[in-house]
Amino acid sequence: MKEDAVTPWEAWDIKSKTLKELQEEFAQKGLPKFRALQVFRWLHRGVGDFSQMTDLSKDLRQDLAQSYRIVTAEVAQKRVSKDGTVKYLFRLFDEEYVESVLMHYKYGTSICISTQVGCKMNCSFCATGKSGFSRNLAASEILSQVQAASQDAGVRISHIVLMGMGEPLDNYENVLRFLELVTSPEGLQIGMRHISLSTCGIVDKIYDLADRKYQLTLSVSLHAPNDAIRSRTMPINNRWNIGELLQACKYYGAKTGRRISFEYALIQGVNDTDACALELAGRLKGILAHVNLIPVNDVTGTGYRKSRIEQQKRFVSLLESRGIPATVRRTLGSDIEASCGQLRRKVEGGNDHES
Ligand code: SAH
Repeated sequence: MKEDAVTPWEAWDIKSKTLKELQEEFAQKGLPKFRALQVFRWLHRGVGDFSQMTDLSKDLRQDLAQSYRIVTAEVAQKRVSKDGTVKYLFRLFDEEYVESVLMHYKYGTSICISTQVGCKMNCSFCATGKSGFSRNLAASEILSQVQAASQDAGVRISHIVLMGMGEPLDNYENVLRFLELVTSPEGLQIGMRHISLSTCGIVDKIYDLADRKYQLTLSVSLHAPNDAIRSRTMPINNRWNIGELLQACKYYGAKTGRRISFEYALIQGVNDTDACALELAGRLKGILAHVNLIPVNDVTGTGYRKSRIEQQKRFVSLLESRGIPATVRRTLGSDIEASCGQLRRKVEGGNDHES
């Protein structure tokens, strides 16, 4: 994981630094400690320029501008769904793009953010992997998606899901750093219990995360009850199979006391039979689990179709009859291709600001 930690822009990327790191750097420059706290607060309030840090002297602002750069995410495109969901395409400093989705719920506003430009995992049903992998996002770039969407929409974001483009546990060091920043009492102060992290099953990192005992919600993209189906749809299964993955999930539950959310995209004729439901129930027995069923979303070129409504209902009731809690997830933003698996890293043709 070390290579993730050392990004080429690390030295100048002031927004990726923790308060402690900033205090140490400022001390080395001979600056008083409280200056670091002032700067940290400005960065986390989302200012894009040192000149806006009005309680610092002009000299200091100029010095900082020479040593550092403030990473931001620029809104390149924006689409608004009938249901109010907003999909953003953000431009990064090097002309790479990522998408994020802002969703409004009764309990607050949630944002689904990306952790990588593209993805290496190549799940057969997902659009993100289709255009390949470009690079990891720095912690500042993950955070900037939250700030930019919040500023654009004029709302306070209460919940975060790391379920956009990319595999968070394949960019582990930067994601851990992001978690530290976004939960900071001097920053956005979003509680761990309001954060979900979704993984395709990077087993060694699940063990590591468990040992940290964070109170975040772990979502595991399972999508199959056995290795034959899972290896066909998710290449990661050839590295760690379902048995190994579920062992790690048990460990996670035991360490953190948190229920794991298993994602299961229902694909007609692939993984949605009664036999699949029963096999899944058998495998999840004894794990503190909830199954989130998602009728597979359309992705061009996959040929996959959503399960029929009756079969979705049957799948839920078969799981529940075996004591496994399950729900079919409500889909938001499907009219703007903002649903699970539909995020891409390319600028799309067509209208900006559709609604
Ligand atoms: N890499 C992480 C997070 C990104 S994907 C992961 O694999 O969990 C977010 C969720 O959307 C995952 O559960 C993923 O499997 C699911 N997904 C991908 N493509 C989908 C599709 N076409 N329909 C429904 N869910 C999909």
